[in-house]
Amino acid sequence: MPADFDTIVNLAKKRGFIFQSSEIYGGLRSAYDYGPLGVELLRNVKDQWWHSMVRMRDDVVGLDSAILQSPEVWVASGHLESFSDPLVECRDCNSRHRLDKLKDPDKCPTCGSSGTFTEPREFNLMFKTHMGPVESDDNVVYLRPETAQGIFINFENVRRTARMKLPFGIAQIGKAFRNEITPGQFIFRTREFEQMEMEYFCHPDDAADKFQEWVGLRHRWYTDLGITPEHLRLREHDVDELAHYAAGTFDVEYLFPWGWDELEGIANRTDFDLRAHIERSGEDLTYFDQEANERFVPYVIEPSAGATRATFAFLLDAYTEEEVKGEKRVVLKLDPRLAPIKVAVLPLSRKPELVETTGRVADALRSRWPIEVDVTQSIGRRYRRQDEIGTPYCVTVDFDSLDDNQVTVRDRDTMAQDRIPIEGVSTYLAERLVT
Ligand code: ATP
Repeated sequence: MPADFDTIVNLAKKRGFIFQSSEIYGGLRSAYDYGPLGVELLRNVKDQWWHSMVRMRDDVVGLDSAILQSPEVWVASGHLESFSDPLVECRDCNSRHRLDKLKDPDKCPTCGSSGTFTEPREFNLMFKTHMGPVESDDNVVYLRPETAQGIFINFENVRRTARMKLPFGIAQIGKAFRNEITPGQFIFRTREFEQMEMEYFCHPDDAADKFQEWVGLRHRWYTDLGITPEHLRLREHDVDELAHYAAGTFDVEYLFPWGWDELEGIANRTDFDLRAHIERSGEDLTYFDQEANERFVPYVIEPSAGATRATFAFLLDAYTEEEVKGEKRVVLKLDPRLAPIKVAVLPLSRKPELVETTGRVADALRSRWPIEVDVTQSIGRRYRRQDEIGTPYCVTVDFDSLDDNQVTVRDRDTMAQDRIPIEGVSTYLAERLVT
């Protein structure tokens, strides 16, 4: 089993990973702020995704499109008409629920009453606002509920300027907003979150193969970054579960503390979106294959992941409790590529000579890695803090260091200690910290 829910939420708060938004005003439900460690962890998750999806491939390029887009985009994509969830309200306690997520569709999970729900009504999840100083129906805009449409509307811009030939992908990481009926489970379901999406355009005849290929690649991305394979599974959507645009979908699911739930969806979106934008905009978004002398609307395979949701899964999966010499040791066994701080530099005591040498060691490392210098409390407590935030290496400067110019490097997982010359520390760490 992955870690207990409350344990991770408490650790995230106590150590400065994630705070409730607007906490000093009583908190804004379903919004979260990422603290000094959280912002590094989230950024590392996004960087790893970008690295594998864009940097390591010739056939995928990046994009950063605006959150605010023409409302026409959402008419064409179908979001204005049908991006909704079925909302029911309990007549006894007035609590509102998403019908398709209820364990028992007749029983209110808030007050326990049976048969008290109103008829379901479709609730559109898009946040609405106004562009410009006047609030009128003419200047309504929406906060994007997915990053994908920004990619579709730039298909031709990117294809032409980056001179891409099919099959190719366009990747984007960014904020998305959904006015969820029942947000919750910490950062699993929030109203403001971050997505990592890639639209892979291909010939319709290739779509089935590319779909299978991306399902495999995306599953492997999580295990490669340390998620326990037994905590991860692929689930194929039933035909009646498929979104209106999809010919097939696999979810990558993680074993969250409440059970299996979605981390990422990989969908065969067919030519639905490009076709819809061709019709609505009147622009030509078809593709011409010169060699085959064929013009067609490409199919699209979409791996769509949540950056914030994945961050939660990485935290849960990394959490480990061990017994060391009769005492509990808490370790976040994050893959070093994800760890917020890569190296902690610790003087054994606050003696000025040690602090001064610590400063020199730290300065030689900080241009390469996020590091932390900690001079407080006993060395044991400082090791415990670094274990709890997942720091892979601690470099300790002790009294002998002043004479022999050597330091001790401690490994988070094995707790083994190596004595290393100060000038060799950077090389020693570089060999172990893969980026
Ligand atoms: P659900 O059915 O749970 O509402 P969905 O199937 O509509 O989710 P998608 O539209 O496929 O979700 O979104 C792709 C990914 O974006 C999800 O797999 C998830 O990681 C992330 N995501 C979606 N909604 C949220 C949210 N409210 N909070 C955090 N992450 C989200």
